[in-house]
Amino acid sequence: GPVIVWLRNDLRLADNPALKAAIDTGRPVIPLYILDETPGVRAMGAASLWWLDKSLRALSDSFKAIGSKLMLRRGPAQEILKDVIVHAGAAGVVWNRLYEPAAIARDAEIKAALKADGVVVESCLAGLLNEPWTVQNGSKQPYKVFTPYWRAARAHLTHVEVERAPKHLQAPEHWPHSDALDGWNLHPRKPDWSKGFSIWTPGEAGALERLDDFLSGAVDGYGEGRDVPGLEATSRLSPHLHFGEIGPRQVWAAARTAAEAGDAPHGEIEKFLSEVGWREFNHSILFHWPQMPKRNFRPEFDAFPWAENPKGFEAWIEGRTGYPLVDAGMRELWATGFMHNRVRMITASFLIKHLLVDWRDGEAWFWDTLVDADLANNVGNWQWVAGSGADASPYFRIFNPIGQGEKFDPKGAYVRKWVPELANLPDSAIHQPWTAPAHLSVEAKRSYARPIVDHGRARARALEAYRHLRGNA
Ligand code: FAD
Repeated sequence: GPVIVWLRNDLRLADNPALKAAIDTGRPVIPLYILDETPGVRAMGAASLWWLDKSLRALSDSFKAIGSKLMLRRGPAQEILKDVIVHAGAAGVVWNRLYEPAAIARDAEIKAALKADGVVVESCLAGLLNEPWTVQNGSKQPYKVFTPYWRAARAHLTHVEVERAPKHLQAPEHWPHSDALDGWNLHPRKPDWSKGFSIWTPGEAGALERLDDFLSGAVDGYGEGRDVPGLEATSRLSPHLHFGEIGPRQVWAAARTAAEAGDAPHGEIEKFLSEVGWREFNHSILFHWPQMPKRNFRPEFDAFPWAENPKGFEAWIEGRTGYPLVDAGMRELWATGFMHNRVRMITASFLIKHLLVDWRDGEAWFWDTLVDADLANNVGNWQWVAGSGADASPYFRIFNPIGQGEKFDPKGAYVRKWVPELANLPDSAIHQPWTAPAHLSVEAKRSYARPIVDHGRARARALEAYRHLRGNA
């Protein structure tokens, strides 16, 4: 019988070890994507579903082009797999591993159940450069600090070779039932939303193009450019990496090739690769501390006096806090499903420290609205900002949204784009519109919010909350 490739966050043909393993059996191959509804596995957010829809269309075309078909099913993964195996008379199932705790539990259960039924099961490494359990310190413990983690992780990566996409896939004699993608209705529910999503090209081809563009352009200057939200100086590979339309090994290999060819200074490429390293690190942390999505990595933060602040939370979500850089970021997120990394740090810090809202609420909003929503990266970064994470930014480092704006968006290019009611303000007032002379700020005064909290007072209150926490610890 045929072999099923169960595709998850590895929506690509090139350098896909599970697909290769299936081909290597010499049997017909059935590519299958399951929109999983296993209880306990966190459901995808709305922006992710938008992306998934487009990515599956692209993948489906890619399989057609090599004489195959992508099968689509929806429901609890174990039930669906059993059903497809029976109907297709399949002999085995292959997949690439995931690292979210609930997915690990699900996969382990499925593996055991299928093996008990005499089905051959194999799982492969595709989503990370290194398996989380292979990068350990001298006492055989996982690293809690990024720099030594990345040094050790890199030492494993001497010869990274990537596999090309297969040119042909052997089809089974009979295809099992597949849902129609249109029937899944994955499009956004909210009519005014996703207007700006046209910047994206989900799918493997779009991912490879982003990587090429970046390595032949913006990587030169990445070290400084990456902090400037008004520039497009980063790769924007994060959703592609999350869905596995491109694998980190492909990114690594292409970046090393670019470095060796002298396409960009080594330092810039190393800086970029170290960000890919943070992705690895966050996955390792989540793997070893599976309670991370719910609990603080540092338990002393469990005593933090979070505020009930529904009004503040609403204003934050809607981009009307009265702090231009915060509002620009939240509006970029809503319009495009993406937010620049520096602005993610500033908006997250504002929610946690200026509004004293629990980081888990912010994490949930990002989860629903980011096209790159990723459990390890989202939770890891929210805890980094909160100060409660592994190798986190210290809590008392409170971003000043005005100062950050003046430093990283000095001419207000980013703010003017996303908060158009401020577009006519002079540079000197763009990050604090309330200081603009009256005749220059008519439009701003009429349509833009006053700050919902005073920065100085909010900062003092946040530090006071932190002292309370330490008093308890
Ligand atoms: P580049 O600068 O081009 O970096 C290359 C790749 O490295 C990225 O595609 C990404 O995979 C990885 N990377 C970069 N920065 C980080 C980082 N800080 N942590 C982990 N990996 C990183 N990233 C997500 O992929 N999913 C999330 O859900 C997510 N949530 C975040 C929440 C907060 C509060 C913050 C502060 C950051 C979050 N990030 C998340 C990390 C980061 O903002 C994005 O990965 C980055 O902005 C993506 O843009 P890029 O692809 O152009 O990055």
